[in-house]
Amino acid sequence: MSMGVLDQIGNTPLIHLKKLSEMTGNEIYGKAEFMNPGGSVKDRAAKAMVLDAEAKGLLRPGSTIYEGTAGNTGIGLAVVAAARGYHSKIVLPDNQAPEKYDTLKALGADLVLVKPCPFSDPNHFYHTARRLSESDPQGFWANQFENLANFQTHFETTGPEIWNQTQGFITDFVSATGTGGTISGVSRFLKSKNSNVKVTLVDPDGSGMKSYFETGEIKSQGSSVTEGIGIMRLTANFKQAQIDRAMNVNDQKMISMLYFLAREEGLLVGTSAALNCFAAYELSRQNRNQGKKIVTILCDSALRYQSRVFNPQWLAEKGLEVKPLTSF
Ligand code: PMP
Repeated sequence: MSMGVLDQIGNTPLIHLKKLSEMTGNEIYGKAEFMNPGGSVKDRAAKAMVLDAEAKGLLRPGSTIYEGTAGNTGIGLAVVAAARGYHSKIVLPDNQAPEKYDTLKALGADLVLVKPCPFSDPNHFYHTARRLSESDPQGFWANQFENLANFQTHFETTGPEIWNQTQGFITDFVSATGTGGTISGVSRFLKSKNSNVKVTLVDPDGSGMKSYFETGEIKSQGSSVTEGIGIMRLTANFKQAQIDRAMNVNDQKMISMLYFLAREEGLLVGTSAALNCFAAYELSRQNRNQGKKIVTILCDSALRYQSRVFNPQWLAEKGLEVKPLTSF
């Protein structure tokens, strides 16, 4: 049977992070979501939302798919749109890594750039995408934050893949959150198989979900260069998550992990993945030699950010240094 591009979304490898495991006396694994056709974990949500819309009769040949995104969902939707004969119109803040805009253009998406602003501002990418879709009778607004096809696909694919790839021996799942689709779908599935699996939420600076989990109030401090993660409101997808503890990881630790993974593991991962890996490492260090099997998500590739993260001038502007992991 010949397979199309959509069939190549998901079923990603689970990579053993050998050095991090040896350094901390537990087993740490990363789910290689950067190997999806659009290069990120968001291909899964994009495919699920489009197939769900097709099943509900919301898309016709030649329709336009609208979405507000930090980039990866837009890239995933542009892949799926191209493969299935739709147009895509993607609204992004104008401060994301340039590689994302280039990739979207290469896939034939129409781009609409907006100034970064708080969610309460009507010009926020989220509201802009909704407005644009409302003025197009053939338009479909994917709405990754509230559309539960996002949660559902992680429950049906990412979760079971991780369960099978660890032969059910997983003890911990570690993940940051953007829409909440990944952490909610995976946490719900894993806990349905074994309620002892512990789930750690990771927040970058500037995200309010750790504080929400711990106090019920959405509060944050500082900001982060990470893209696609961190949120200051409760989304329908995040509401499905089953979380046991929360951790904050700052950008300095994240960058040091990004370089460590490149140089010591031979793995080029993006900023959210490096944040996830630092949290997995920290969790493993705090529980040395406990026989843990910790799984986290390698959401996308460092190559999506290479003009920034491998550019010494950019690092200096952000006040970031490439410090050895052992200095933390
Ligand atoms: N990492 C990156 C690089 C992303 O683009 C996203 C999606 N915004 C996430 C992590 C978070 O995934 P989710 O939306 O499933 O919470």
